[in-house]
Amino acid sequence: MIKDNISAIKENLPSGVKLVAVSKFHPVERLQEAYDAGQHVFGENRPQEFEKKVLAFREMPGYDDIEWHFIGHLQTNKLKMVLPYAHLVQSVDSLHLLQEIDSWGKKNGKIISVLLEMHIGAEETKTGLYEEEVLDILFNVDKYKNVKFCGLMGMASHTDDEEQIEADFTRIRAYKEYLDDLFPELEDFKELSIGMSDDYQIALRQNASIVRIGTSIFGPREY
Ligand SMILES: *Cc1c(COP(=O)(O)O)cnc(C)c1O
Repeated sequence: MIKDNISAIKENLPSGVKLVAVSKFHPVERLQEAYDAGQHVFGENRPQEFEKKVLAFREMPGYDDIEWHFIGHLQTNKLKMVLPYAHLVQSVDSLHLLQEIDSWGKKNGKIISVLLEMHIGAEETKTGLYEEEVLDILFNVDKYKNVKFCGLMGMASHTDDEEQIEADFTRIRAYKEYLDDLFPELEDFKELSIGMSDDYQIALRQNASIVRIGTSIFGPREY
């Protein structure tokens, strides 16, 4: 039961850690079930599906306080499916995307809250920003007046090796602390979004402030 899964996870979360229910590939009814169990924050990773679900909930009374996070790769030609609705875009993984989000914000009179997605896994192919790129962005926050920088996001290596996962999370945590010291004026730069179904316990040991959990809430996805 979704309800039991959510309570079991919440029991493990220290207060102040936000649970994002990753609902990708699951139908709206499953999200409603989670909502009715008290889970009001959802994450989606595909622009079309994100927009479709947001609009479906807007049609239904009683779901006004859902907080929608976008957590997947965002192509710049799909900003309009995501930015009007997202409370937090967790997956800003390139300078180009950041610039486009800022321009969209200017044009539409909106400030977009984002996390910078860092490349922390061992895989070459993993998307995300490198340390120097993050640093460069944060030294130039004044260029992005329509973006609110809320912290970092990362995905560990795709492996069962818990030591490797812990090493990945340790690195992003340490980098976050380094940035906090370097940029004390960035008041909103608070979040560290690490941890999914299989590794969120490890992420909590490394000070995760947001965990993104799909399978352990909704069961396996059918692709
Ligand atoms: C799918 C996804 C998750 C959730 O993964 P589970 O293993 O199902 O908990 C978390 N973060 C991102 C970025 C995802 O794409």
